[in-house]
Amino acid sequence: MRLNLTVNEVRHCVKTMVHLFRLAAVVIVVAAVAIGFAIYLLSHSTLGVSEADIQHMRQAYAEAELALKTGDFPVGAVLVMDGKVLAKVCNEVVRNGDVRDHAEMLAIKRALHDLGVKTFREVRGDITLYTSYEPCAMCDGLIVQSRTPRVVVGRRKTVWRVGRSYLGHLVYRLRERGGLDEQVHDDLLKRWKANLPASP
Ligand SMILES: [Zn+2]
Repeated sequence: MRLNLTVNEVRHCVKTMVHLFRLAAVVIVVAAVAIGFAIYLLSHSTLGVSEADIQHMRQAYAEAELALKTGDFPVGAVLVMDGKVLAKVCNEVVRNGDVRDHAEMLAIKRALHDLGVKTFREVRGDITLYTSYEPCAMCDGLIVQSRTPRVVVGRRKTVWRVGRSYLGHLVYRLRERGGLDEQVHDDLLKRWKANLPASP
């Protein structure tokens, strides 16, 4: 087959490709915004919230009130498995002099410790974390790492506070540097994978 294109035909092809890429980019951006907005709406709704959830949230608010006694930021968290309260705590940053001792952090750690597991994936049961105030990035990280299956939030952060928090992260990111001796890590990862027990 002979491909004999004129300059105009090549130009036309390039133009068509550019249009297609632009269209694809617009579709991707619109889809991402729509998905993000849908997730935002869902996470700000009370869809599927039961009477039991409301009762446990009241316990979380009661814990938040206890934080005031020590001058801690008033946040309370309750971790429940199959209707049974596994942990009920408030912020203890000031009390313990430890910036990591947020209510959600303490609740998850205590529940995992008492259950004797590393993540909630290892236990069967309906697990929900109730927190009186929207979790910070640190607690969000632990919620993901501990595989906490469900979270019910009391007070949502305002858009301004969420924006400020993300801006803060970007500023910290600017101070980060990376990409040093990455092969060392990759080799360690290979050795770790080689030693993993075979899945049944
Ligand atoms: Zn936190």
